[in-house]
Formats: sequence, C-alpha cells, structure tokens
Amino acid sequence: MHPRSISILGATGSVGTSTLDLVRREPGKWRIVALTANCQAAELAMLAREFSAEIAVVGDERCLPDLREALTGSGVEAAGGPAALVEAAARGADLTVAAIVGCAGLAPTMAAIEQGGTVALANKEALVSAGEVMTAAVTRHAATLLPVDSEHNAIFQCLAGGHIDDVRWITLTASGGPFRDWSAERLAAATPAEAVKHPNWSMGAKISVDSATMFNKGLELIEAFHLFPVGLERLRIIVHPQSVVHSMVEYRDGSTLAQLGPSDMRVPIASTLAWPGRMDTACEPLDLAAIGELTFRAPDEERFPATRLAREAAQAGGAMPAVLNAANEVAVAAFLAGQIRFTRIAAHVEEILARFAPPPPASLEEVLAVDGEARSRARLLTESA
Ligand code: NAD
Ligand code: MG
Repeated sequence: MHPRSISILGATGSVGTSTLDLVRREPGKWRIVALTANCQAAELAMLAREFSAEIAVVGDERCLPDLREALTGSGVEAAGGPAALVEAAARGADLTVAAIVGCAGLAPTMAAIEQGGTVALANKEALVSAGEVMTAAVTRHAATLLPVDSEHNAIFQCLAGGHIDDVRWITLTASGGPFRDWSAERLAAATPAEAVKHPNWSMGAKISVDSATMFNKGLELIEAFHLFPVGLERLRIIVHPQSVVHSMVEYRDGSTLAQLGPSDMRVPIASTLAWPGRMDTACEPLDLAAIGELTFRAPDEERFPATRLAREAAQAGGAMPAVLNAANEVAVAAFLAGQIRFTRIAAHVEEILARFAPPPPASLEEVLAVDGEARSRARLLTESA
C-alpha cells in the first residue's frame, strides 16, 4: 500500500511524541514530511533521523546551527524560524498533526489547512484565537479538521451517525485538575511544581497549569463552540474526577452517548490517525471494575473563574477569545516563572478582557495582531504585579 504522508508540528512535545509512538507501531504505513519543535535540536534531529523525515524545523532560529550539526549526513533538510515552520506545514501532507502549544501554532496550522488535507488538531489555542477565521478556511479549502483534544474527540465520536440538529446538550467533562478540592486560601499559595502535577494525565507544562486554573476547560468550551455548531447555550461543563468519561452528547429523545477510555492521549490521537477506521494501540484496556466508581459534580466558578471568563469571551465573540487566550498564555508563563501568584492568572485575564476590546479580526494577520497587542498589554500588567 502507498504510505500516507504525515507532518507533526510540535513533534518533541507530549502530544507529538505520543503521535510518533503510534506511527512507530505501523512501519511502512507512514511517510514523514515535516517534524518541528521550538528548540530541542538534538531531540528533534534524533526523531527526524529515526523516521527519515523530509525536513526538520525549529521555531527558534537560534537553535538552527545545532539542528544542522545534528543532522549532518542524514539527508534530512534543516530549517529554522517562524516562516520556516509555515513553509514546512505548507508542503502539505495527507495528515498534519497540529501539536504546537499556544498561539505560536496558529500560522503553521493555517498553512496546513490551506493545503486542503486533514488536520488533527491538538493545538486548541490556535482555534480559540482564530475562531471563524480558521473554520472558514477549513470550508474554503475543503480541509478536514479532526479533534485530538480528548473531550472533543469524544464528542466527535458520539456525533458520528447522529444529526447535529438533534443534539440537546454537549457536556464536556473536566477532571477539575490538581487543586479541585483546595480552598481559596490554599489556591492563592499554590506553586508551579504543584500546578504541573496533574492527577490523571501527563502533559506539557502550559496545559497542566491550564488544567489547574480550569482555563483548559474554558479554552475547550470555545474550541467546542467552533467545532460543533450547536450554540454556546447547549454546551455544558461537568467535573468528573476520574477522567474516564471523556465527554457526552445528549440527543433530544433523551439518549446520552458518552465515550470512555483510559487517560492516555494515544487513544484520541489513534482515532484521528486511523479515522474513519481504527488501529491497535498499546494502551491499557479500560478496567471499570477496578475503577469502581465514576462521580460527577457541578464546577465551582467562585474558586475557578476561568470557565465563566471563557464563556463571556465566547459570547462577546470577535477578538475576545484571542484576547483571553493571549492574556492567559502570558499569565501562565509569569506564574511558571514565579512572577505572579496562581490566583492572579484569572484576575489578570479578567483585567485585560475588561480593558482591551479590539474589533473582530477578519484574517490571520488581524488575529495575530490582536494576539500580539493583547500579549504586550498582559506583559505590562504582569510586570507591574
Ligand atoms: P508540550 O509543551 O509538551 O509540547 C509543545 C510542542 O510545541 C513541543 O514540540 C515544542 O517544542 C513546540 N513549541 C513550543 N513553543 C513553540 C513555538 N513558539 N514555536 C514552535 N514550536 C513550539 O505541549 P503538549 O502538552 O504536547 O500540548 C500541545 C498542544 O496540545 C497544546 O495546545 C495543548 O493544549 C494540546 N493538548 C495537549 C494534551 C496533552 O495531553 N498533552 C491534551 C489535549 C490537548
Ligand atoms: Mg482536553
């Protein structure tokens, strides 16, 4: 069989390496076009050699000499810088896995969409920031967007065979993160080390902090709003500490469909790699008897205002989700660097949202301009904290 071509943007990250783990299981099935990272030159070069990639790209140009050196004699092309990321994504693969973290992944993801192939989207910040600019490009270029995010992948699976007009509710489940049961006082003193220790999932630092603040669920609410056109009022969030039910769809006849699985990103990633078929994974089978109980409770927006802020930003629409996302990215980085307290992350985002309301962006360039301006304002705020 002719191999399918694949590019992985953010190949050295948590989602990227899980993807390559699955690709490794199917020798001969895939031809690797591009593998990218921000820096991590040695790691990227090792992967590019192992998978005989056509090109390896670092987003940070300063890491290009190291990448070149590590790829000497391999026959793999090396490139660096944000424009090189876009060019690599624009080479077009049958499947592009968008797994860069943050709005930094937006331009390369858009470049992949413009090639009209299939894009497996993990990079939620890109869709949250670009919103209709991205969904319109998907339609215009007849691209296919498959959600990798476990909740959205679950919803996507529960919608197969159903009709979107028959949906009464879409319920996103949330683990509640490591601070689920912490008091407001204790939250104010939470450290970066405590925030990145997720009880169920092993993930990159940024999404781990997002999970602790519940901004992850807020971003996912906006992501779901764009992926599944049922309207914001039909999207709900429920806390489910065991992370076994990955999300649910309730139809108007009262039937609720749910997707269950282990807390292992290889399951949703595999479903996008094999879609519309299925593939084997090495994931632990789901042992419900060992898990024993599945519990659910309403989210607490007093202690975790992120989901309220995200809903408000989605309701306002236009540029506001991009502003929310940019302010959150800056605040998370400041928290990880020890510059602001945990509880200031949401407070900073709320302040930026109250002060900065640019007009709706109509193009990728305008989205990036909103993102850039929101970032500089957020940085000023964190520096003055
Ligand atoms: P990660 O930090 O582990 O990896 C991020 C990848 O992006 C790395 O390869 C890194 O080198 C690259 N990168 C970072 N900054 C970059 C920049 N400025 N330019 C170019 N490349 C850059 O992150 P992750 O946990 O794998 O998450 C990736 C995306 O997937 C995020 O948007 C996250 O929200 C989403 N996601 C992750 C998980 C998970 O389990 N990790 C689950 C659902 C969704
Ligand atoms: Mg998720």
